[in-house]
Amino acid sequence: MAGPHLEEQPLKIYFIPYLAFGHMIPLCDIARFFSSRGNHVTIITTPANAQILNPFISNHFQVHNIQFPSQEVDLPDGVENLSNVTDFTHSAKIYQAATLLKGPMEQFVEQNPPDCIVADFIYAWMDDLASKLHIPRLAFNGFSLFAVCAFDSLYANPSIDAPDDYAIQGFPHRITLKATPPKDILGFLEQLRKTELKSHGLIVNNFAELDGEEYIKHYEKTTGHKAWHLGPASLIHTTEKEKAERGQKSVVSMHKCLSWLDSKQPNSVLYICFGSLCHFPDNQLLEIACGVEASGHQFIWVVPEKKGKEDESDEEKEKWLPKGFEERNKMKGMIIRGWAPQVLILGEPAIGAFLTHCGWNSTVEAVSAGVPMITWPVHGEQFFNEKLITQVRKIGVEVGAREWKRFGFTKMDNLVGRDLIEKAVRRLMDAGSEEAEEIRRCAQKFGQKARQAVQQGGSSHNNLTALIDDLKRLRDSKSLDS
Ligand code: UDP
Repeated sequence: MAGPHLEEQPLKIYFIPYLAFGHMIPLCDIARFFSSRGNHVTIITTPANAQILNPFISNHFQVHNIQFPSQEVDLPDGVENLSNVTDFTHSAKIYQAATLLKGPMEQFVEQNPPDCIVADFIYAWMDDLASKLHIPRLAFNGFSLFAVCAFDSLYANPSIDAPDDYAIQGFPHRITLKATPPKDILGFLEQLRKTELKSHGLIVNNFAELDGEEYIKHYEKTTGHKAWHLGPASLIHTTEKEKAERGQKSVVSMHKCLSWLDSKQPNSVLYICFGSLCHFPDNQLLEIACGVEASGHQFIWVVPEKKGKEDESDEEKEKWLPKGFEERNKMKGMIIRGWAPQVLILGEPAIGAFLTHCGWNSTVEAVSAGVPMITWPVHGEQFFNEKLITQVRKIGVEVGAREWKRFGFTKMDNLVGRDLIEKAVRRLMDAGSEEAEEIRRCAQKFGQKARQAVQQGGSSHNNLTALIDDLKRLRDSKSLDS
C-alpha cells in the first residue's frame, strides 16, 4: 500500500546491455551510478559476459544470467560477445543469439517486473514489453548526443550521397565530413532510432559540457525527446585495481604498466588502441609501426591478439612489424598483444596523446583524463566523434582517415599511410609547438570539467538525481493509482 514516504524507497532497475564490450562496459558502469545511490540494480546478461561483473557484485548490484544459445547459433562455448569474434559470420551469429534471448528475457522481466528498464537500443523489442507492463523504458545506444543528432540529420536528408565534402544539415556548427556511412548500416540504425524515440528518454555516456548546451537544445527542439547525460561512466572507478579490471582481464599486469609509465616524463608517451572491435590487416599495422617509429616518440601500442596464433613465428611477425622493430624500441615502446587496462593507462601523467579509432567510450575516457587525441575513425559513428573532438571542441587532430567501414574487421581499400601517421603524431607530440600546447590546455580543461560533472553538484550528478526522482514519481503515481 502507498505510504507517505514512498519516494524514499529505492528503485528496482534492470539494465540490459548488448553483447559487445563497447556497449556493455559503459552501461554497467552507469548501472553502478544508480546502485551507488542505494537503488537495486540487476544486469541481465549471459554467463560469459557476467564474468566481467564479478568484482562489482553487491547487495545493490546483482546479475541475472540467461543461458547463451551457443548450440542454436553454432558458436563455441564461452564465445558470447561481439568483441570475441573477428569476422562477419561470427558477428552475425552473436547478433542472432542476442535476438534469441528475447523469450527468456521477457519471461524473467514479466515474472519479476522492475520499476524501470534500461535496455540497449539493439533490443528494440523491449519497448513492447515495457509498454505492456506499464514500466518506463530508457534507451542506451552508447553514442554521444552529438553523434545521435548527426545521424538524425542524415536520416532526414537522405539525398546526401557520399560527396567528397559535405556539411551536416541544420547543425549548430558547420561540420564537414569527407566520408558517409554505408547505406545499409544507416537504414538499420534508422529503424532502431524510431523505437528509441518512443522511450521515456535516452541515457548518454557523456557530460553535458562536452556535447554542449547547443546540441542538447538542438536535440530537444528537433525530437521533443529527453536525453540524460550521466557520464563519463568510467569515472565510477576510483581505485587503480578497479580501473585495471574494467572490461576483460588485462594481458599485462597493472604493476608492469604503471612502473614503465612512471619511468617516463610527463606527456612523453603516445597511447595507441583501436577499441575492442577493430582488427586491422597486417599491412595497416605495418604502416602504424613505421609511422610511429619515424616520429621518434615513445609509445604503448595495443594490438588485438590473433586468435589461434599465440606463438607467432618471426616470419608472421615481420608482416606487421618491421625487422628489428622490437629490439630497436625496447626502451621506447611497449606492445600489448591483447586486452590492455586502458582507463588506468590513460590516467597516467606520462601519456601525452592517444591515437584512437574514436569509439565513444575511448573518446570520453581520454577526455576524462585530459589527454588530447589523434583521431582515426573506422566505423559506426566514429567519424562524427572525430568532428566533435577536432572541429568543435578542438582537443585533437585528425590523422586523415577517409574510409567509413561497415565493421571493424572489414577489408580496407585505402590504408592510412605511415607519413600521415608520423605527421599527426609529431603535430601533437613534438616539443615547442604552440598549436599542440593549445590543444593540450583545452583537453586538460575538459578533463577537469568531466571530473567535476560526476562530483556532488556537477551536471551529471544533478542529472542522475533528477532522473531518479522522476522515475520514483512515475512509480509512486502508478502505485497510488492502483
Ligand atoms: N578497452 C580496454 N582495453 C583494450 C581495448 C578496449 O579497456 O585493450 C575498453 C575501452 O577502455 C573502452 C571499450 O573497451 O571502454 C571500447 O569501447 P569503444 O567505444 O572505445 O570502442 P569499440 O570497442 O566499441 O569499438
